[in-house]
Amino acid sequence: MIVITPNKCDFCGACVAVCPVDCIDLKEADISIRHDVCIDCDLCANICPIEVLEPIYDEK
Ligand code: SF4
Ligand code: SF4
Repeated sequence: MIVITPNKCDFCGACVAVCPVDCIDLKEADISIRHDVCIDCDLCANICPIEVLEPIYDEK
């Protein structure tokens, strides 16, 4: 899943534009991800210019 680093995002919207399932909610000064919808493609983490979003992989 994708973890959001609190207070780092500058709300540029790049991740929202790239998400194929539209599960990133960006409102004024708040960003959240609906993890039940996210497909873990990591596109958002790759496009974020300031590394706010970090993919975390379950070790099983
Ligand atoms: S990992 Fe993919 S599906 Fe999940 S929030 Fe990022 S862009 Fe959207
Ligand atoms: S791409 Fe990064 S800085 Fe831009 S809105 Fe998304 S998380 Fe925030």
